[in-house]
Amino acid sequence: MALSSQPVSLPWSDTAPTEVDVAIVGGGFAGLMTMVHLCRSMPQARIAVFERRPRGAPGVAYGGCDAEHLLNVPAARMGAFPSEPAAFHAWLDERFPGRWGAEDFAPRAMFGAYLSQLVAHELASTGAQVRLVRDAVAHLEPLHAGMELLLASGRTCMARAVLLGPGLPPARAPWARVDHGVARAALAADPWEACAMQGLDPRADVVVLGSGLTAIDIVLGLRRAGHEGRIRMVSRNGRLPLPHAVPGQTPVSMPLDAFGGGPRAVLHALRRAAQERTAAGLGWQGALDAIRPHVTAIWRTWTPAQRRQFMRHARPMWEIHRHRAPRSVLAEIERQLGAGTLVLERGEVVGLVPAADGAMDVSVRSPSGAVRTHRAARLFNCVGPAMGVRDSIDPLVGSLLRSGLASTDELGMGIRTDDDGLLAGGAAAPVWLVGALRRGELWESTAVPELRVQAARAAAAIVERLRSAAPVRAAADGGTASQLPTGGR
Ligand SMILES: Cc1cc2nc3c(=O)[nH]c(=O)nc-3n(C[C@H](O)[C@H](O)[C@H](O)COP(=O)(O)OP(=O)(O)OC[C@H]3O[C@@H](n4cnc5c(N)ncnc54)[C@H](O)[C@@H]3O)c2cc1C
Repeated sequence: MALSSQPVSLPWSDTAPTEVDVAIVGGGFAGLMTMVHLCRSMPQARIAVFERRPRGAPGVAYGGCDAEHLLNVPAARMGAFPSEPAAFHAWLDERFPGRWGAEDFAPRAMFGAYLSQLVAHELASTGAQVRLVRDAVAHLEPLHAGMELLLASGRTCMARAVLLGPGLPPARAPWARVDHGVARAALAADPWEACAMQGLDPRADVVVLGSGLTAIDIVLGLRRAGHEGRIRMVSRNGRLPLPHAVPGQTPVSMPLDAFGGGPRAVLHALRRAAQERTAAGLGWQGALDAIRPHVTAIWRTWTPAQRRQFMRHARPMWEIHRHRAPRSVLAEIERQLGAGTLVLERGEVVGLVPAADGAMDVSVRSPSGAVRTHRAARLFNCVGPAMGVRDSIDPLVGSLLRSGLASTDELGMGIRTDDDGLLAGGAAAPVWLVGALRRGELWESTAVPELRVQAARAAAAIVERLRSAAPVRAAADGGTASQLPTGGR
């Protein structure tokens, strides 16, 4: 694909069409790549992508980062299309020859540039009418042969099919029920918002809630922005992610039946495989990489009770082994911990009290029950999304569940779909889902290698449905009808 090397900004506008063939909720990787597949299969379709955030780069992971935040997946696995996993690395290498190897972790902002260039190229060459709209979708209402989208701006849009690509809905901030009075400016509920670090005294002490990949990114981002004060990471398990393997090790592959049985048996097999690798002088990480292609298949064989057992007892350890950090990143974190400028504290925040100069006094209870209080000029919420979708504060997810259009899996971790992403349940509405909200049934449904397959599959299912379906018509008033053009590349 001939793409220029310049970063591009996509043509977002505030004007929403009143009627389209496909409405896409979310302008991240999931939404944009589904849009690309749809453009290629239905070159005359009318498509609208709705995005509620005002930022330029696509999605949460590639939009809020600075130039040095790194991907957690090697460049050669980040291609946007299932058939071309190495395409992102090829794109990088064409522009910066030799700078990043296939197994290197490139900056996330580079991936944002790759994705937006790919989308801009598609928009310029497709015959489809695509509108990128800055608005939040608040509610979906079934029509006779389609859906009506109610937007946060008060406008509406009718669509013959809807693709949901909303990422993971935000959790309630840990201080949501605390009366934080005048110290509101000290609370950064979304650490990726541009304003999260604004106005912060560079010598002040701050608290980062969480110790996972996002917390690490925020610590390093603060330092790059010149923050000199002490940073305290507070988390329930007090564990950092583990490092990726040293590059260049031969990948291992293991058959699915090496991981039979319930969570205990699978983790036992995994531990044994990791021990065999370390005994051979190789990284334990290879064992995790070997199970990864089978994770969804294994998860699907487990009963709800077994899944619950895994979530309760094994998830924290799974997370730090599975969601690893580049070695260079962890080396810098270790350096700061050694210097005492960064502190990692195991415990739970039990109190927030406004203090002088707009700061907060943060009380942390350790596992032994002792409570210590720290003054923080800012608190960064890096605890991640809610594990239960019903705990989310997202208006659209709440509305989908209340209206019965969507239903949750047995553990309430995500939204149920069929294998193509079509929402499961009684409603039979033409609504598909791509992304992490499918984790209840797939468990691995987070990163580009999974989402690029989901996007292609959901797009194919939407095309098939639209080619055989009737035009959209409002249920109550007979509304306007549209014709979906057929044909494809
Ligand atoms: C900090 C961080 C680092 C990551 N690093 C990597 C990595 O290195 N490699 C990797 O493969 N994956 C990584 N991931 C996972 C990453 O999230 C996925 O790769 C992918 O980008 C998810 O895309 P998405 O479109 O599903 O979700 P998102 O990127 O979250 O995009 C969803 C979009 O939908 C919008 N939206 C939600 N609801 C509505 C609504 N009702 N109306 C309108 N808009 C709405 C949101 O504003 C958001 O922009 C990372 C994630 C994070 C948070």
